[in-house]
Amino acid sequence: MPSDPPKPVDGCEKCAELAAKRTARFQAGDRSGESDCNVYLRRHLAASHAGVRA
Ligand SMILES: [Zn+2]
Repeated sequence: MPSDPPKPVDGCEKCAELAAKRTARFQAGDRSGESDCNVYLRRHLAASHAGVRA
């Protein structure tokens, strides 16, 4: 499903950072900030975790 949010990879600092940022945006009610974080996380998954389904 392309609309599913990307999943952070266990043990990756960058994933954890982006996921934490996304959660903070979500809790602040900032939907566009939240979707920005999803874009960054997808981009990071593609660049650093090739083969991981985003
Ligand atoms: Zn990562």
